Amino acid sequence: MSNRLRIQAEILTLKTKYPFKIARGNQDSYRTVLVRVIDHDGLEGLGEATPQKFYGETCETVLAALETYATAMPETAFDLEEAERALERAMIGNNSVRAALSTALHDLVGKRLGVPLWKLWGLDAAKAPMSTFTIGIDTAEMIKKKVLEAEQYPILKIKLGLDNDLEILRAIREVTDRELRVDANCGWTRKQAIGMLPVLEEFGVTVLEQPLPATDLEGLAAVARASRIPVIVDESCLVAADIPRLVGLVDGINIKLAKTGSLREALRMIAIARAHHLMVMVGCMIESSIGITAAAHFTPLVDIADLDGAALLAHDPYVGASIAGGRIRLPDSPGLGVTARA
Ligand code: MG
Repeated sequence: MSNRLRIQAEILTLKTKYPFKIARGNQDSYRTVLVRVIDHDGLEGLGEATPQKFYGETCETVLAALETYATAMPETAFDLEEAERALERAMIGNNSVRAALSTALHDLVGKRLGVPLWKLWGLDAAKAPMSTFTIGIDTAEMIKKKVLEAEQYPILKIKLGLDNDLEILRAIREVTDRELRVDANCGWTRKQAIGMLPVLEEFGVTVLEQPLPATDLEGLAAVARASRIPVIVDESCLVAADIPRLVGLVDGINIKLAKTGSLREALRMIAIARAHHLMVMVGCMIESSIGITAAAHFTPLVDIADLDGAALLAHDPYVGASIAGGRIRLPDSPGLGVTARA
């Protein structure tokens, strides 16, 4: 009989408080996969896979991939580097699934050692940055309502990239003078993006994320050259190997676990980006506090955080890292530090 760590999976259905609209879609119900990795004493590590159709994953592909990965699980969680490599050798792609397994393995190690992940990595929880709160694309009236409701967040991230960008920016500035960052989610052409730059400056926008489609690196470089606002790429940068070709073209990268496939890869990306003087942002999907907390643990190393995925939910089934007065608070309990909401 196999002595490998066991995997259990369960689909979580998450609803956002408001339908969440970005340049490529609109929905209010999201399915993620809760992954448990169980050791020989019955101790459980938790992780969450947040499959994105944009990257070719669904809950069904996650569940199928877990069957393959089950045959490559280690006997203990402690050799994390080798454990992650073995998963990658078993099957490439399926990055959200490997991220969930990586998170669960890290959770087990932290629990065994009795330390939270940030402490395992030698980080200072007090250095965790502020998190933005995202305002999805909506009518002017709804935008104003959502901005006012998000009053505990000093920095807002605004989704643009459809045909009402100006209307959204005006609506926001009617009700707040808070810091604004913009994410166009690949929604503009080069001409539109360059035309938007003076408008974004006029409205006091401080960061511009992914103005153009992921593969248009030449266009992104042209926008970044024309822009006084830092240009950060998200959809153009999935893993560490994507970083070298971005150096000198854009100002920073956005790391998300659903793209990286591993916590260790996220740490490698931070190191590589830093070595090239790129800004480092960490982002998220719509997910519960399991996935959000995994990313929150390495935020003391990043410049910018957008970890509002659980805060956007009508009901978050888990409790872990939180956002208080806009600042990310890391849990002190061992491992991931996430528990089911009572
Ligand atoms: Mg983004």
